Amino acid sequence: MPDAPILPIVQAGAPILRARAAEVPPELLGTPELRDLCAAMIATMRAAPGVGLAAPQVGVAWRVFVMEDRDELMSVLSAGERHERGRVAFDVRVLVNPVVRPVAGERATFFEGCLSVDGYAALVERHHEVEVAGVDEHGEACAFRAHGWPARILQHEIDHLDGTLYVDRMLSRSFSTVDYVRDGTKTVEEIRRELGI
Ligand code: ZN
Repeated sequence: MPDAPILPIVQAGAPILRARAAEVPPELLGTPELRDLCAAMIATMRAAPGVGLAAPQVGVAWRVFVMEDRDELMSVLSAGERHERGRVAFDVRVLVNPVVRPVAGERATFFEGCLSVDGYAALVERHHEVEVAGVDEHGEACAFRAHGWPARILQHEIDHLDGTLYVDRMLSRSFSTVDYVRDGTKTVEEIRRELGI
């Protein structure tokens, strides 16, 4: 089988990123069309590299996203930073027509970026734990709970399906280039204090 193509990632300003994506019709589940889209989204996410990608980000207005986290993507973080963020490696997941719900009241604030807002990041408050239910590209039921970073990815990606970007939810005074965030040695608490947020 040939490698899945790497698709261009749509950048902020494109109307598709601000529209509500449509439910994938049942007759499309398990078809080569949907499987090829998901394979291309996974290839595109890995090439970026990123930990999540929603179909509107590759110009397709369907309620589909993919997510995956790998040790190599978090190699810049110390063990303490990984723990603080709740960041753990997990195998690739495909979610079609997903519904995401918060589980508990606890919330977490960290820097978050987006492949469609290339080069920037900002602090975003998210639910610490969520549950997701949907189907995969074959139409098999798929439901699980996630906390920490995977929960953040789920909330970020479901937002894409509703035309919402993280910049709508960010603590706007924390908006930074990724270079500032990567080079940062300050904790989120220190940054918040410094910015008065
Ligand atoms: Zn995004």
